[in-house]
Amino acid sequence: MNLDLTAEEQAFRAEARTWLRDHLPADERPPEGTEMREFDLAWQRTLFDGGWAGINWPTEYGGRGLSDIQQMIWYEEFAKADPPFTLNNSCTFVGNNHGGPTLMVNGDDAQKAAHLPRILRGEVVWCQGFSEPGAGSDLAGLSTKAVIDGDELVVTGQKTWTSYAHVADVQELLVRTDPDAPKHKGISWVICDMASPGIEIREIETMSHVTDFCEVFYDEVRIPLSNVVGDINNGWKVAMSTLGFERGTAFMADQVELAATVERLIEEARHRTGPDGRRPAIADDEIARRLATARAEVAALRAMTIAGISRTARTGVPGPEGSMIRLFHGELHQRVYRLALDIVGPDALRLTPVDGEGVWTGPYLQSFAYTIGGGTTDIQRNIVGERVLGLPRQ
Ligand SMILES: Cc1cc2nc3c(=O)[nH]c(=O)nc-3n(C[C@H](O)[C@H](O)[C@H](O)COP(=O)(O)OP(=O)(O)OC[C@H]3O[C@@H](n4cnc5c(N)ncnc54)[C@H](O)[C@@H]3O)c2cc1C
Repeated sequence: MNLDLTAEEQAFRAEARTWLRDHLPADERPPEGTEMREFDLAWQRTLFDGGWAGINWPTEYGGRGLSDIQQMIWYEEFAKADPPFTLNNSCTFVGNNHGGPTLMVNGDDAQKAAHLPRILRGEVVWCQGFSEPGAGSDLAGLSTKAVIDGDELVVTGQKTWTSYAHVADVQELLVRTDPDAPKHKGISWVICDMASPGIEIREIETMSHVTDFCEVFYDEVRIPLSNVVGDINNGWKVAMSTLGFERGTAFMADQVELAATVERLIEEARHRTGPDGRRPAIADDEIARRLATARAEVAALRAMTIAGISRTARTGVPGPEGSMIRLFHGELHQRVYRLALDIVGPDALRLTPVDGEGVWTGPYLQSFAYTIGGGTTDIQRNIVGERVLGLPRQ
């Protein structure tokens, strides 16, 4: 595998760097609510107007039709530009990274035409209604039911942990349409309008005091049958492609940003007093060792990301190998922010920046989500064991 960039890719990098220098917002991202939604959508519109939305989306859907490597280069330049926000937290994440890509692979022409351009133009927020109180790791055990009535589905049940449901317009929703079929067979993947009568959303506050999770309740919510993506009762196959994108390519920006975070942390360690109360933190052998390991591990993560991109380019959709990257990335993300707290020490108790110092506590608290969301590390290990290594099922 050749890891050198082509001349075209290097020119693309230079173009991205210049554009980002001129267009990156200086403002902090509002942490919650309508203001956050408007900030994220405004940034998506800025990207679209500048020709930087959907870099790796096909041109027929409004993207630039470039490679995943170019998409990754753009993320690297974004991270290096020292932005005041991260891409992974954006409420445009689902639409861009797995809702839209799922429609491209499984949607019909009308669904693609109705939704894909709106995602890219920053007109709409998507959320994901997969998990339920009794169905997380065992997603196929979901019980939110949908009954066909004429040319509509009537949905009743509950979802939970739905990120950004309270600011979303559209949901990728999994429902049980055949209760008598084996559990993987009676599921459908539907596009749900979040303004539909019968939907109630209750916000959940997390330990970092941010509300971006919700419970969503459905009381006889009517959804046109034309919103079923793929065939009715064939939603498990569609959901697997959604999870393939979510575990395979969706976190590319975050993987790349982690490398920039480690560099920032090395700078912090140069300027902060270390455990002996005299010398800089980086002079402490143990901290230096952990920083060096983190730098090596983000380099390994980059190589894994590029290998994943190269595999996806051959097959068209991310395979189960994405779970290896997701697993390594999730655990590494936590190690990096744990190290950050050890370097920052008691100052980590500050939740707002002082004298230009970085803020590490919020991201540290959020790092716990990295081994849960999109499938826990245990589930990713099961997938790697069974579907990548071909080990027998327990
Ligand atoms: C930040 C974040 C954002 C999220 N956003 C969304 C969203 O937008 N939409 C959505 O639908 N969901 C979302 N989720 C939910 C997420 O998908 C689930 O939390 C996850 O799949 C785990 O399910 P669970 O919480 O029900 O845990 P459980 O499935 O109950 O798991 C509990 C524990 O048992 C272990 N376990 C369970 N089964 C097995 C097994 N077979 N083998 C080994 N160990 C096992 C798990 O690893 C875990 O440690 C989000 C979660 C997080 C943290």
